[in-house]
Amino acid sequence: MKRIGVTASLLLFVILPARGQSKLSAKWEQLTAEDFRTAIQQAQGTCLLPFGILEKHGPHLPLGTDLLNVRYAALHAVEQEYAVVFPEYYFGQIFEAKHQPGTVAYSMELQLKLLQETTDEMARNGCKKVIIVNGHGGNEHLLPYFAQAQMASPKDYVVYVLAGERSRPGGPAKKSSGVDYHAGENETSNTLYTHPELTHTDRAKRESGADQKRQNLPDFLYTGIWWYARFPNHYSGDGSVATKELGEWNVQGWVSTIVEAIRAAKADDASLKIQNEFYEKSKHPFDTPQ
Ligand SMILES: [Zn+2]
Repeated sequence: MKRIGVTASLLLFVILPARGQSKLSAKWEQLTAEDFRTAIQQAQGTCLLPFGILEKHGPHLPLGTDLLNVRYAALHAVEQEYAVVFPEYYFGQIFEAKHQPGTVAYSMELQLKLLQETTDEMARNGCKKVIIVNGHGGNEHLLPYFAQAQMASPKDYVVYVLAGERSRPGGPAKKSSGVDYHAGENETSNTLYTHPELTHTDRAKRESGADQKRQNLPDFLYTGIWWYARFPNHYSGDGSVATKELGEWNVQGWVSTIVEAIRAAKADDASLKIQNEFYEKSKHPFDTPQ
């Protein structure tokens, strides 16, 4: 019985991954437990955590714009380079939009705790390389801080943060000039490309996305109110001039950056080793040669 069992499971081991190669979903929530194991193997332990938010996007884009776009880019990237994609995640930093309807702003403590427990759970399930793909500008301080905090205590996995797309020359000329930080020409174009049915370009002029410059401080002096002072409508730029062509250029660039990140993480056999060396040495700093 035992021998037959071993032979049978060996057979399954040989047949299943081959059968599953092209059919495996990349979406964590769509995999069966058995297929999940194969998927993690196929992904070489590399998983994506696309990070969005729920916040106003001018008068013309959906609240979930960042989540919708980051998932679009991530899910298209894994078609080119396989990785397992964690479900919808939107528990980030967005205090500056609390005055607008539909914003969901979790406390600072919960943001960090939930993110840590999420990546810990991902790693416990075989994701030893977790790439956080950021889709929301308000997270740009949170995520490097979170990655740095992984040095506080030993982890058997590596957190990578992908902040945006690599800049590249070319692409359609922009029609607007000046600031374009949020729901402006770029982001509206991106959403027009990824979710045309949710993009109401004709409403983009209903509010102003102009910089209202209500603060008089030098660049090197930071305050948390800077964003609201400049963009109280939670809108920065001009979404009315958006085009699908610009969106396609931007989003395809983002997709290739994610593909490159997945490949780099898969090839990275140094980070975890160096982390382990660091954790070990951190236990007895007096033994570190001076
Ligand atoms: Zn956005």
